[in-house]
Amino acid sequence: MSSPKKPSSSLQEKAGISPPEIINVSAITQIQKNRRQQPSSEELIAGILDGNRTALSRAITLVESTNPEHTEKANEVIKGCLPNANKSIRIGITGVPGVGKSTFIEAFGSFLTQLGKKVAVLAVDPSSSLSHGSILGDKTRMEELVKDENAFIRPSASGDTLGGVARKTRESIILCEAAGYDTIIIETVGVGQSETAVHSMVDFFLLLKISGAGDELQGIKRGIMEMADAIVINKADGDNIKKANQAKLEFNRALHLFPPKKSNWQPKVTTCSAITKEGVSEIWDTISSYFEMTNETGFFSEKRKEQNHFWMMETINEQLKLNFYNQPEIISQLEQNKKAVQNDEISPFAAAQLLLKLYFNKGSK
Ligand code: GDP
Repeated sequence: MSSPKKPSSSLQEKAGISPPEIINVSAITQIQKNRRQQPSSEELIAGILDGNRTALSRAITLVESTNPEHTEKANEVIKGCLPNANKSIRIGITGVPGVGKSTFIEAFGSFLTQLGKKVAVLAVDPSSSLSHGSILGDKTRMEELVKDENAFIRPSASGDTLGGVARKTRESIILCEAAGYDTIIIETVGVGQSETAVHSMVDFFLLLKISGAGDELQGIKRGIMEMADAIVINKADGDNIKKANQAKLEFNRALHLFPPKKSNWQPKVTTCSAITKEGVSEIWDTISSYFEMTNETGFFSEKRKEQNHFWMMETINEQLKLNFYNQPEIISQLEQNKKAVQNDEISPFAAAQLLLKLYFNKGSK
């Protein structure tokens, strides 16, 4: 947000003017000064626990930074926030571009804040890191929700790898929870591997679809259907209602062919219109009954424990890889070995062994 241009307070002070306006100007200058000065980890933690959005945003920025000093500070803040995290439900929402994710999250998020919930919307968009363009785009599309004081919307982090982006989002969830957000929505696109990453950080996974020309299941990845706890056929309005109901039948039939889920939850298919809001409350009923059931069976906390373990291992793998590929010796030898492998001068296995030996003998830094 750009701040309005105001005359500098020092000039006005020199001129000896001190109406209330000037006091405001100096207050703004002080805030701007404070903004420039980085708050300490303790200040950030206190701000987050107090529900302060600026503190939350700044902490997420630290999490997203690649500067090692920021990473260290981010870790301190996360550590301070952890005892107050974990008290939310985490819902993943996926669907191909144009299916209506933003519109749906706007309708669903507003429905939840009207129920008295505090909703945070985060995103995992691998395209924003790979091509510097974002498929999920500008979150100002959620016009109502951005204005809602009980909602917090943050676009996708950018990073070098999907793993990096996903880890940052995973850590941001902890910060949002500590700031009092009790419903976390993670949006991702129905392309690439991002669904798997999001699935491993949420409790409930919702697949958004639209009805097509009858052949509903064509082109849909089996893995994504298998992950879904609910399939919502969006844009069920106007002339589309009949087709949406037909699609619902087809998806229901297809879902029954999948093996039972570990949670014993039978995935549900519903229709909805994110524009007319028809069907939105039913989706919440479905999600609520899922949480009721998985809390009763203990699956909810079991899954979270598994996810924590998964993310620890993921982070180790990610950091090891980064460290390996960032060693100057590896960078130069990798190219030579790639060429040698291509020319059949050395086997891929032997080349890999050579590079790994070089890495381990040097000792990673
Ligand atoms: P995203 O790319 O998945 O985030 O999709 P958007 O939310 O940007 O929606 C894509 C287009 O579909 C926009 O023009 C929306 O207005 C429209 N749209 C979204 N939901 C609905 C709906 O329920 N009914 C109708 N008729 N149009 C919708």
